[in-house]
Amino acid sequence: MEQARDRIIVVGAGFAGVSAVHHLLCAGVPGERVLLLERAPHVGGRAFSFVDRESGHVLDNGQHVLLGCCTSFTRLLHQLTRHPGVRFQPLLSIPVYAHGRFCSIESRRLPGPLHLVPSLLRYAHVSLDGRLRIAQAAFAMLAARPGDLDAHSFRAFLERHGQTDEVIRFVWDLVGTAILNGHADDISAGLAVESFQIGFLRGPEPSRLGLFTRPLGDLAAEAVASLQARGVEVRRGRAVRVVADEAGVTSVRLADGSSLAARCVILAVPHDQVRSVLPDGAIDRAAWLGRARYSPILNVYLEYPRTVMDADVAASFAMGGMFVFNRGRLLGDAQLDGRLLSISISAADAYRSWDADEIAREVEAAVGEMFPTAREEGASWRKVVWQPKATFLAEPGLGLKRPGVRSRLRGLYLAGDWVDTGWPACLEGAVRSGELAAAAAREDGFA
Ligand SMILES: Cc1cc2nc3c(=O)[nH]c(=O)nc-3n(C[C@H](O)[C@H](O)[C@H](O)COP(=O)(O)OP(=O)(O)OC[C@H]3O[C@@H](n4cnc5c(N)ncnc54)[C@H](O)[C@@H]3O)c2cc1C
Repeated sequence: MEQARDRIIVVGAGFAGVSAVHHLLCAGVPGERVLLLERAPHVGGRAFSFVDRESGHVLDNGQHVLLGCCTSFTRLLHQLTRHPGVRFQPLLSIPVYAHGRFCSIESRRLPGPLHLVPSLLRYAHVSLDGRLRIAQAAFAMLAARPGDLDAHSFRAFLERHGQTDEVIRFVWDLVGTAILNGHADDISAGLAVESFQIGFLRGPEPSRLGLFTRPLGDLAAEAVASLQARGVEVRRGRAVRVVADEAGVTSVRLADGSSLAARCVILAVPHDQVRSVLPDGAIDRAAWLGRARYSPILNVYLEYPRTVMDADVAASFAMGGMFVFNRGRLLGDAQLDGRLLSISISAADAYRSWDADEIAREVEAAVGEMFPTAREEGASWRKVVWQPKATFLAEPGLGLKRPGVRSRLRGLYLAGDWVDTGWPACLEGAVRSGELAAAAAREDGFA
């Protein structure tokens, strides 16, 4: 075994692990004491990029977006990359297509939740009666204590507060599914209400949409390189066991049979990997890890011979709700502006059994409905990227009962988008979990 007993090992180089390492260094831990272990050939975990062989395009595994409230993630990018690669809208603005026309969901510079009222009053995808009902649910959400709602579905909460099927489908579910990767019937009202409180209802600033202007993989690689430049060792390897004695963590065993001595381990792997690596009884709420299921996200890339889309982003209710991004423009490629589109469909369970051609055809037809030139031209290239294990599904009863960063083993901490941060499974939650884990390790004298 390598002798480095003072070492802190962070397992998993997704954004939770990167954040944990960064916050250890911010707390004064010398980089040389920290080892970041990653089993995959790339860093960034579930936020990665790849070059498509056929087209040569750099694609993300899924088009990610942020909101203005994602302050920890944005700060991390500012601190660890040359150019953080996110452009925030000055005010939320999403053109939404249905029934042959676009209506926008927009913010105004007014205190929350009034910032959304002017656009929702004009939102013609729901009846006037429906529009008037939206405020009822918004105020109920602001007054609610999310912890009291976890056992109920988001739909049950909305119905209790006067929301009809059309308002749920054309307002709450469109936005809620994008944030929580689950439809209103399937997700915890507690986590949904908490997310709307944080991200949408408190005012225009937190609800601004943040669009990535660089491939995710570049951002993750640059962030990790900046940690390496501060002395952190990054090693390829799969942890198979965190080993402990009565005094606490002693080492991490790797799949190749070697062991790395450690005084402290921050385990930043996806929720379904945690139990296999830990001794029995190491963490509270371990049953949660077994119960939490994944919810898939589908991403379809379409390239057109001519410009078909003028906006940065637009939404439609086709295929259960989809967001269309002008990827060419976002990446600053003038040749592909309005021609290379990325379409994201969250909570995509319904398409598990579809083949890629079927999915691409259906998405292309939906995009053709939104943009007449797309219909006339037809896509010249299509790519379907299926992510079956995108995020955990925050089912009723699970959303707010996640494990925390501390464990029962001295020297072992947990990080990941599934850890109890009060955020849904997302980049911001991942980064916050890493920050919390590093802070706990510091508080306990390990950092
Ligand atoms: C298609 C898609 C779209 C998404 N859209 C958005 C979005 O718009 N906005 C948003 O905020 N979030 C979005 N997310 C969610 C976001 O990507 C994740 O919440 C976030 O990346 C999770 O980070 P993490 O560090 O917790 O976990 P991960 O990124 O999964 O990182 C865990 C790391 O641990 C490594 N690992 C696992 N086991 C071991 C082991 N035994 N030994 C060593 N290493 C190990 C893995 O290889 C991985 O690199 C999306 C996710 C997907 C898939």
